[in-house]
Amino acid sequence: MIEFVNVTKQYTSETTALRGVTLTVAKGELVYLAGPSGAGKSTLLKLIAAMERPTSGQVTVNGTDIGRLKSAGVPFLRRNLGLIFQQQRLLTDRTVLANVMMPMLVTGLPRSQAEERARAALDKVGLLSRASASPLALSGGEQQRVSIARAIVNRPQIILADEPTANLDRASANKVFDALRAFNKAGVTCLISTHDELVLDSASRVIQLQHGELLAEAA
Ligand code: ADP
Ligand code: ADP
Repeated sequence: MIEFVNVTKQYTSETTALRGVTLTVAKGELVYLAGPSGAGKSTLLKLIAAMERPTSGQVTVNGTDIGRLKSAGVPFLRRNLGLIFQQQRLLTDRTVLANVMMPMLVTGLPRSQAEERARAALDKVGLLSRASASPLALSGGEQQRVSIARAIVNRPQIILADEPTANLDRASANKVFDALRAFNKAGVTCLISTHDELVLDSASRVIQLQHGELLAEAA
């Protein structure tokens, strides 16, 4: 489903974010990305979403070669991706429900149907009771769960989450990971970058990056 073959990403002559990365993620897998700040975790996720292009090597997502993807093809790729990135904050001038409905209204789904699915998604992350609240009234952990609801509402095959529990306390982080694991159990392939040692210790698969290079995976 996701394949990297000898992928290098160089931002500037001084900054090589990924070096010769080769990996495969199969459909339905739950994979964590670990490594110190600056190791290349965000870059790896951005390459999958065509937010960045590889400098050399090949990135393939659902059979699409990201390096050759024309800009007109990007929305088609993204339709299959649920993105949870720091850059995509919730809009604070509208309700939680309206935030979750947005991606569906963009695709032209009728309002009533969008609202029904948004409510179902909020229910799945345990926040249906906060549908009419402003995102500002929610805790950081609740806001992240709303972001997850917004990311999955178009039924993506793949979820990409970049440090979704940064700055959250233990209990809030657990709820965020529980929500992501539940979607994975329902069949969604998940790639999640994290520094959370507790989660990494019990993970079935961890991809470890250091200075842009992949360390051998523990068997
Ligand atoms: P991580 O997510 O593990 O913290 P990143 O992928 O964000 O790592 O960054 C990897 C390296 O690439 C870092 O040295 C970072 O400073 C650099 N980098 C990331 N984005 C850019 C950019 N847009 N332009 C230049 N350098 C960048
Ligand atoms: P509905 O059929 O009314 O959308 P569901 O309970 O089937 O209700 O789904 C609830 C929400 O979870 C929906 O918004 C749906 O888009 C989202 N979702 C995304 N991916 C999946 C998945 N693989 N399995 C179940 N629900 C998913």
